[in-house]
Amino acid sequence: MRAMVFHGPGDLRFEEIPVPEPASGEIVLKIDAALTCGTDVKTLQRGHPVMIPRVPTVFGHELAGTVTAVGAGVRRIREGDRVVAANSAPCGECRFCLVGRPNLCEDLLFVNGAYGEFIALPPRLVARNTVTLGRAIPAARAAFAEPVACALLAIERARVESGQSVVVFGHGPLGCLLGMLAVSRKARVLLVGKAGWRFERVRTLPIGDCLDASATPDVVAAIRAATGGRGADVTIDATGKPEVWEQAIEAAGRGGSVVFFGGCAPGTSVRFDTRRAHYEELTFLGTFHHTPDVIRRAVDLLEAGVLVPDGLLTHRMALERVGDALTLMARGEALKVLIEP
Ligand SMILES: [Zn+2]
Ligand SMILES: [Zn+2]
Repeated sequence: MRAMVFHGPGDLRFEEIPVPEPASGEIVLKIDAALTCGTDVKTLQRGHPVMIPRVPTVFGHELAGTVTAVGAGVRRIREGDRVVAANSAPCGECRFCLVGRPNLCEDLLFVNGAYGEFIALPPRLVARNTVTLGRAIPAARAAFAEPVACALLAIERARVESGQSVVVFGHGPLGCLLGMLAVSRKARVLLVGKAGWRFERVRTLPIGDCLDASATPDVVAAIRAATGGRGADVTIDATGKPEVWEQAIEAAGRGGSVVFFGGCAPGTSVRFDTRRAHYEELTFLGTFHHTPDVIRRAVDLLEAGVLVPDGLLTHRMALERVGDALTLMARGEALKVLIEP
C-alpha cells in the first residue's frame, strides 16, 4: 500500500509498505478520509514524544474508514462496517480512568497512520474508542470526530448554554469548532481572530460575530463593549499564547468561566488579577484531549447534523501531497485539508 511515513522531524517520505494483517483483537480499515491537523504541522517540525513515541510510523491521526479485515476475538465490529477511530485509547485501569477522567489516563495509547491506504487498529483502540457509523454520514464529515471531541469536552466542561455570551480566541480549525459547538447550544459567539486568508474564510462560516484583533487596539475593551460592559459568560483560548490566556481572563465577566484550551509552550506563565478571580468567582478550566464518551457524543452530533463542519475543509488532496497540505497549513493558507488515499 502507499503511505506517508514519518521518520523524524522534517522527514516525511511517501513509501510503498505492506498492507497490515489484523492480529488478535485488531481490525484493519481502508481509509476513506483523513484530515490534516495543526498538531501534524507541529509534529513534523519538531517531533512529538507523546503522540509519536517510535519512528518510523505512518503519519496522520484524524480518519474514517471501512473495515476490511477483523482479527480473532473481535465481536462488536464486522467486515464492511464504516467506523471512526479516535487517535488514542485509555487504559481503563489507572486512577484517572477509574474516576471517569480517562483523558488524563497515565497510559494513553496513541495511534497514528491516517495518511495511508490501510491502517491496523490495536486491540485497546478497537475495544474502547472505535465507533460504528450509519450509512448516511460522509466519511469526510465523520473524520472530524476527533477534533470535534476535543472541542466538545471544553464546551461541556464550561457548561455552555443557551443565551450565554461565549468568546473564542483563535480562528484555527479548533477555534471554529468551539464556536460552532457554542452556536449549536444557542450561545451568542464572538470569535477573535487575526486578519488574513483564513480569517476571511472563517468570516463566511456560521460561527457568530468575528473580531479582528489585529485591527483592534484594546481587544478586552472591545469584548466588554460587545457584552454590555459585563464581560463574557465564557471565554476560551484556542491560540496557546500566554498573552491571549491573559486576555481571556480579563474578558470574562463576573461569575464567568475561562477555558484554557490551547496549550502554551513549556515554561510559560501568566498574570491575572487575584482580586477579580476571588470576588467575581471566576472559574478557570484546563481542558485536554477527549474521552471515549465524548468521542461518541461528537459522532452523534455529526451524524444528527447538529454540527456540520464541512466549511472548514478548504482543500482536498491525494495522499502523495500530504507534505504540500501541511505546508499550506503552516502558512495559514488552509483550515483543514481532506486527504483521500
Ligand atoms: Zn488532530
Ligand atoms: Zn488509564
